[in-house]
Amino acid sequence: MLKTYPCDLSPSCGMPRSPLPPSFMNILIVEDEPEIAQLIRETLERESFICQIVSDGLAALEIFKRQQPDLIILDLMLPKLDGLEVCTRIRQTSTPKDPYILMLTAKGEEIDRVIGLSTGADDYLVKPFSPIELVARVRALLRRSLRHGGQQKNLYQTQHFTVDLDRHIATRNLENQSEETLELTTLEFNLLSTFMSYPGRVWSRSQLIDKLWGDNFFGDERVVDTHIRRLRKKIEPDTANPTFIKTVVGVGYKFEDQ
Ligand code: CA
Repeated sequence: MLKTYPCDLSPSCGMPRSPLPPSFMNILIVEDEPEIAQLIRETLERESFICQIVSDGLAALEIFKRQQPDLIILDLMLPKLDGLEVCTRIRQTSTPKDPYILMLTAKGEEIDRVIGLSTGADDYLVKPFSPIELVARVRALLRRSLRHGGQQKNLYQTQHFTVDLDRHIATRNLENQSEETLELTTLEFNLLSTFMSYPGRVWSRSQLIDKLWGDNFFGDERVVDTHIRRLRKKIEPDTANPTFIKTVVGVGYKFEDQ
């Protein structure tokens, strides 16, 4: 017997956010082909997930706002609003839960766009896929969410930048609400992550060295200045007059973004 729960009856309502057992994970299936939607639901309900189906992009956004599913399985080609647009809008919406998004595409259908652009999807599956493959992907995503203490992703976000530690991607948030990937070396990425983990904190050079190199550092701590200079070139509009990474004379550096 297939069963879905409206939000107020859902076993997850009123439960603490994390960590929830998988059987309390809500999955929203957004798919306009009824047979495929039904197949996905049956597959996932056999695994004790709670599923709900909608068949167009606008309905998906409605449910997302009202019920905040843990995972959204999102078909790319949809009536009313396509999957990429739904994904973008979800990522622009600030909610207590940040859902994982598994994108479904047909063979040859703009896969490059899904993967290549930062649409905000976490993973994708090309149709046709096997039920086993679907369950494996869903479990992998939800395990990730549990490991990080709930549904929040492992990322730091400020007004102009986002650092996604899981995917090792740093992006600049642009004014038109799109984003631009920053081409950073591992060291620059770690430096930016360290700064963004604690905006406003003043870091001495030796504290930054501890964070970035740990015990493996030998040399002049002025090397930090070199990496700061390189990172500034990549993120500052004017390196002579930094907006984000500020020098604190006699102490070190701090990151501010407001
Ligand atoms: Ca479709």
